[in-house]
Amino acid sequence: MNNRIKEFCKTVVSFNNHKDLLMYLFNLVKGNSNATMPTIPDILDKKTFNVFLVEFAKHNSKEITMHFIDLVYKAGHCLSTLKHNVTLTLEDFMVDDDIKQEYKAVLKQQTKIVDKDLVLKRYLEKAKENLKQRNSTILDIIQSGARSSDTQLRQIILSRGMLDTGFNTEFVEGCYFDGLSIHDFEISSLAARKALYDKTMSTAKPGYLTRQLVYALSHIYIDSEDCGTKEYMPYKITQDNYKSFYGKYYFDIETNTEKVMHNPEQFINKIVPVRSPFLCKSQNVCRKCIGEYYYDFKHVGIITAQTIGERATQLTLRVFHTGSAVSLQSDIMDIVKQYPDYIDLHDRIITVKQEAELILPPDTIISKNTNIILHDVEVMLQYSDGTVIRFTIMQGSKLLVQPGKVKGNIIQLIPLSITNAIVAIENFLKMKLSIENLNQLLKIQTILYKLITYDSPFPYFMYELLLLSQLTNQNNKPFYYNRKLEFPLIKQPLKNMPMLLGIGLLFENPRKALRYMIQNKDGIIANSPLKKLLYL
Ligand SMILES: [Zn+2]
Repeated sequence: MNNRIKEFCKTVVSFNNHKDLLMYLFNLVKGNSNATMPTIPDILDKKTFNVFLVEFAKHNSKEITMHFIDLVYKAGHCLSTLKHNVTLTLEDFMVDDDIKQEYKAVLKQQTKIVDKDLVLKRYLEKAKENLKQRNSTILDIIQSGARSSDTQLRQIILSRGMLDTGFNTEFVEGCYFDGLSIHDFEISSLAARKALYDKTMSTAKPGYLTRQLVYALSHIYIDSEDCGTKEYMPYKITQDNYKSFYGKYYFDIETNTEKVMHNPEQFINKIVPVRSPFLCKSQNVCRKCIGEYYYDFKHVGIITAQTIGERATQLTLRVFHTGSAVSLQSDIMDIVKQYPDYIDLHDRIITVKQEAELILPPDTIISKNTNIILHDVEVMLQYSDGTVIRFTIMQGSKLLVQPGKVKGNIIQLIPLSITNAIVAIENFLKMKLSIENLNQLLKIQTILYKLITYDSPFPYFMYELLLLSQLTNQNNKPFYYNRKLEFPLIKQPLKNMPMLLGIGLLFENPRKALRYMIQNKDGIIANSPLKKLLYL
């Protein structure tokens, strides 16, 4: 190790709190420049550190930011090897016996899976408190965001909890620390097999999704700098979506000019005129209607398809780390407890016990063939005695009856596993819709936003391009050519991929596949120059 690095490591290790350390690193970076340091969060974990870095990047130049991040990274290496070299032992998972016994006793009193899950959640907090007193390192690891989660911790120290076996949801009382009973083991093996099956089946899905998206979007690229359009989309910027608007051009009424949105948070709850590919006058799409970003690229369509596809892959993979453990929407469970005579929840199915009127908001969008609700919806149940129950169900839930007078099973909830997010996206892509006016278009944009955004939002142009690529005019021409917002617009289902590539795989060779196609479609390609090219 050379002396400079040795010196750096020594200094880094000598600090006792992160604030001093970060200030030290900052001063190394600063030099003679006028760099500024944002407020350092009191607790530094993965989340707060990300927020801090975004602030840092806003206030300082690209070079200084990169240099700073580089130093933080090096300091991290020093700390994790020289100072906080964390190890795990069995003792890190040991919870006091009296807490465990109390938990088991309370658990025995419950008959419903849902209630058992609530007890588990309550006692997990107690157990964590206990681990904290025992100075367990596992809590630090979870809190820092480096590894593991509460779901995994509870499976080790208390109960494996609710498991989806593929047939139904079961509660496994045993935990990994104490070992599983034969019954628990059997349920766990079913759940594990389901997880394996899901993994095999679902990893292929986002792959195909990506390919379909690339197919649909690949022809959209930037072909000019500024189309000069004077039309703007009236986008409402909200607490949920403002992050997507970084870099978008908007029309500033006060100065009568177009500006780049650098601080979209100041527009929250306002309707802003924004440049959009929907109204671009360019033959393909111009750079200004897309927006201004750090990166410089031309093929925005492919980038969009890749980005959305990649996120979908990540979402599927994330499900598997918890080994098929399920959690249910706790707000509905609370309501079921409040109105035991009116409503029930069992195996993810909501049942109405007395006849009631089921009311959904008028603009609810339901997939026609599968009865799946494509966005979060507030459901209302009106009983003849005047009782009204309201609750929100999540996108992807299935409607078992038509709205109106209902009794018995009405809605099947989805388990909160992310695989369903992909199913929801797929349903959206398969859907055919007629868009009658601008309001509907904006509403569908909002739904699309919720469907695809999971952790962090994409730049807004990606949502726009995805919808844009699937719209046609009345005369069935892609809306994408000669864009004019003339309604109705039809959202077409995303087509399946052309067969050629599939057959190519069948023959292990695209040339053989082409030959096959030619032989079976006499005359079409058979006499073309392509034939010579392929030495047929
Ligand atoms: Zn344009």
